[in-house]
Parts: sequence; structure tokens; C-alpha cells
Amino acid sequence: MQMSLRYDLHSHSLASDGTLSPTRLVERAGGAGIDVLALTDHDTLEGVGEAVCAASRIGIRLIPGVEVSVSWGPQVIHVVGLGVDPEDKQLQEGLEGLREFRVWRAEEIGRRLEKAGIPHGFAGAKARSNGRLIGRTHFARFLVDEGYEPNVRKVFKHYLVRGKPGYVPGQWTRLEDAVAWILGAGGQAVIAHPARYPLNRGRLRRLLGEFVEAGGVGLEVVSGSHSRDDVFKMAAHARDLGLLASAGSDYHGPEDPWIELGRLPELPDGCIPVWRDWGSAPTEPTA
Ligand code: AMP
Ligand code: MN
Ligand code: MN
Ligand code: MN
Repeated sequence: MQMSLRYDLHSHSLASDGTLSPTRLVERAGGAGIDVLALTDHDTLEGVGEAVCAASRIGIRLIPGVEVSVSWGPQVIHVVGLGVDPEDKQLQEGLEGLREFRVWRAEEIGRRLEKAGIPHGFAGAKARSNGRLIGRTHFARFLVDEGYEPNVRKVFKHYLVRGKPGYVPGQWTRLEDAVAWILGAGGQAVIAHPARYPLNRGRLRRLLGEFVEAGGVGLEVVSGSHSRDDVFKMAAHARDLGLLASAGSDYHGPEDPWIELGRLPELPDGCIPVWRDWGSAPTEPTA
């Protein structure tokens, strides 16, 4: 068995708000020297089948995954499911409900932008969504293309976050439900990019406590959006709470030069990797 495999357990494709097809994403991961890639699109498993095929063709391991949108009080939290069965009915139905909410929300974002003097937002976002789910990122790309802002980050800052004209508050799924769907589908539930939420230490601890209570097992200690300091802080939380540590870039495509597939620091000492018990090929049928 190979000694040190390279893992990237958080990535997006065209099935949600990434810009590469599942096949091109997997090929890029292979080119970057990744041995184990998880595809974790927002609220959909649609890209997983294609990604599994591409991965088996080029000889890397693909972990079927998903990033579930959760409302925890007023805060939106992302819960990654790793190693889920993409055929699981309860998970599929749960995600379908979230996608239905996204359709309404996208229309509402369009209406609000229109009131703010930006017409055709819904059509523009839809045209950029490849006929799949529409996220705020698709609106952001439309506004950049139309010259309202120079980049996606600025669109978020000025239009799409709380207090800005295109922000639509809403109810995603409950933390317990997201974890239950993932567990029911045979997966491991992991809190995505924990340092990114505007929660103080006490509130983060409360979130993690409720997450563990619900059956969650992992914390994304290493993330493309974490600073070095974040990584060490999150590693300490994982150790304190007995959570397994995950690592993922949250790659969305080559348009964002700050984040590249597999370009991740090692897990700090003392972390127990979420992949510890995966064996050599958890997603392949036993021959
Ligand atoms: P949604 O799930 O449609 O509300 O969109 C969430 C996605 O928007 C995240 O997964 C990121 O891809 C993107 N996003 C959120 N905040 C920002 C930001 N400040 N700058 C750029 N992209 C962002
Ligand atoms: Mn995204
Ligand atoms: Mn996320
Ligand atoms: Mn993500």
C-alpha cells in the first residue's frame, strides 16, 4: 500500500457553482497529483456519476460527496457529506427540497436586483448555471460580465450578503436533518470551512457540540479558505471534541487563482484524519 496519499475532500463542478465539468475537474486533480478527490457540490449529487467514471479511467479515487446548506439560527452553515451513497432516497429527497428553495430564492434575488436598478439578473444567472442549480455565484458572474463590479468577491460584498440589495434571507435545512441524511446515506458528516463563519469561540463550540450530538464526526481543519492560524485553531477544536480532521480546497475552477486543487498544508500533529478508516478503496466494489 502507498504510504502517503494526497487528499482533497472539498471541490465543486458545473453541477453546482464550479466552472469545470466533473470529468475536467477529476482530470485536473489527477494532474495535480491528488490520489483521493471528493466531489462536494452544493445541494446536489448530479456530478458524482460522471466524476466516478472519470476517476476510474485515470486511476484516482473519487469520494462521492455533497455540501449541504444548513440554517443554524440566523447563520448559514455548510455540512459536507463524504462517502455518501448517491442513490440514497432520503438524501436525494432532502437535497431536492433545497434545490426547490434555490429556484424561488434565485427569482427573488432577481426581483431585488431589479429594484436596485439591475435588470435581467435572474435570466443572467440562469444562463450561467448550465441548466442546473442556481447559486449566488452565478449572479455574481453575471454582474461581473455586465461590468457592475470588477470581480466576484466585490459583487458578493456589495450586492449579495446580508444588508445588501440582492440578499435574500431564507430557511435552508436544519443541522440535525443534514447530518441524518448524510448518515442515512452511509456517509460521514463534516463541518465545512469552520473558521469562515462569523461566530465567536463560544458560539462555534455550541455549533460543534450540537453537530456531534446529531452524529457529525468531522471538522474541515484544513481548507482553502483557512489561514495558518485558522488551521491550528480548528485542529485544537477537533482534538478537544474528538472530531476527525478533514482537508479540502473548496476548489471552484481556474477562474479563482487563489485556490488550486490539492494545494493544501498537512494536517497538524495530533489530528486524526477523516480518512483513517477508509481502507484502500472505499468507493470501489470489492472484486
Ligand atoms: P449560495 O449557496 O448560492 O448562497 O452561494 C454560496 C457560495 O457563494 C459559496 O459556496 C461560494 O462559492 C460563494 N461565495 C460566498 N461568499 C463569497 C464571497 N465573499 N466571495 C466569493 N464567493 C463567495
Ligand atoms: Mn460555492
Ligand atoms: Mn461552503
Ligand atoms: Mn464548497
